[in-house]
Amino acid sequence: MSVESRYDDLKRLIRDVPDFPKPGIIFKDITPLLRDAAAFRRVVDALADVVERERLRPDVCAAPEARGFIFASALAQRLHLGLVPIRKPGKLPARTARLDYALEYGNDAVEIHVDAVEPAQRVLIVDDVLATGGTIRACADLVAQRGAVIAGLLFVVELAFLGGRERLPEHAAHSILKY
Ligand code: AMP
Repeated sequence: MSVESRYDDLKRLIRDVPDFPKPGIIFKDITPLLRDAAAFRRVVDALADVVERERLRPDVCAAPEARGFIFASALAQRLHLGLVPIRKPGKLPARTARLDYALEYGNDAVEIHVDAVEPAQRVLIVDDVLATGGTIRACADLVAQRGAVIAGLLFVVELAFLGGRERLPEHAAHSILKY
């Protein structure tokens, strides 16, 4: 059984919200999944299984705010790893590096503390949804610019029809629930 079909029953806990945050976007709302203890646990188990099965061997987890933090924190605890936050501009207090990128619905930028990752450290980047791939492309580039290695990219939901994976050709991208 493929990874996708093994977890496909969890799709009942991903709520489609049309026209959020802008007309034409169908937002994949993960909050029903988060408030279901067994489902939340299963998703974190599934993410940890991918890390093990694919031998990603991360040294640390990193995630863009805000929904990425939720899964990355839980996974980091499970894997006994630390967590590096990647944030919107102006949120991180110490010295930062910044990258601008285009989003499915607008433009944005991400920042990381310049001392957050170490050269050659293997960084696992985690987010809730892979849409166009712009956010994760920026996060991966930001981390790579600091000299770290991308151990893998991990998502709970992948909107495959948006082709985000094609924007990340050099990285191993894995998702639990594909649409
Ligand atoms: P993208 O850069 O297009 O891959 O967008 C990824 C980021 O935007 C992720 O952090 C998602 O949380 C969020 N996002 C984009 N599109 C959607 C969507 N249709 N439903 C839920 N979240 C989305």
